[in-house]
Amino acid sequence: MRSGMVYLVGAGPGDPELLTLKAYRLLQSADVVLYDRLVHPDVLKLCAPQARLINVGKGSHGEGMTQEEISARLVAEAQNGLDVVRLKGGDPFIFGRGGEEALALDAANIPWEVVPGLSSALAAATASEIPLTHRGVSAGVCVVTAHREAGWVPDWSETAKFAGTLVILMGMGRLQEISAGLIAAGKDPSTPAAVVHRATWPNQEIVHAPLAAIAEACRKRNLGAPAVIIVGEVTEVLRRAVPPLDPVLFDLSTT
Ligand code: SAH
Repeated sequence: MRSGMVYLVGAGPGDPELLTLKAYRLLQSADVVLYDRLVHPDVLKLCAPQARLINVGKGSHGEGMTQEEISARLVAEAQNGLDVVRLKGGDPFIFGRGGEEALALDAANIPWEVVPGLSSALAAATASEIPLTHRGVSAGVCVVTAHREAGWVPDWSETAKFAGTLVILMGMGRLQEISAGLIAAGKDPSTPAAVVHRATWPNQEIVHAPLAAIAEACRKRNLGAPAVIIVGEVTEVLRRAVPPLDPVLFDLSTT
């Protein structure tokens, strides 16, 4: 039997209007869609009515199916001749383990293609009116994760030396540790910072505070994952006295 095709597709940060047209087209033609917890439910409404939707439940802490189970499932569905979309939050290759799935597909001789998505690493900042680079303020962005394999202890000393804006993903479980680590490694405690929670979702929230106070500010607002931590002067550049309106979401009932 002809093998199906597997598309590793980025769903963007949330708002369905931020999907690529290619992602939209593939969602409409896929037989099976395996999706993560970070994918906005309205994005799933774009799948064909006959498509089989499988929640693999994967979040930043590995809950749900294991990576091996997901890869095995992708292989099995494609071997049955079905076209599969593996739908991931943001971009499939930015802390999304898309590369590991591609290697597993190669090993099983399954054809695959990757479709870039708008990563929260960049989009969370822009969606909350933070220009990650700004002439005279920041000439670069350093994106890092605070969460890796069990037992890994982050070393903030290299990250703290970076002269531009820092963007940290998967860091909400250890925000206090991150800010203390960056300060101990030489970052000024008064460096402006911001945490963007659920960027482009209807419940998007942002907290601003100096680096030394950001963990406490988030704790007070009860702000947890998923969120992106942004450290740098750019978080103040366009900050308004009156916060912007809630993001407008694509109304699927009219399509
Ligand atoms: N592939 C994804 C990242 C997966 S890692 C991407 O490119 O965006 C999961 C982390 O992404 C979360 O812990 C959080 O730090 C970040 N994240 C994903 N979606 C987000 C959103 N809508 N708002 C804020 N942070 C988000």
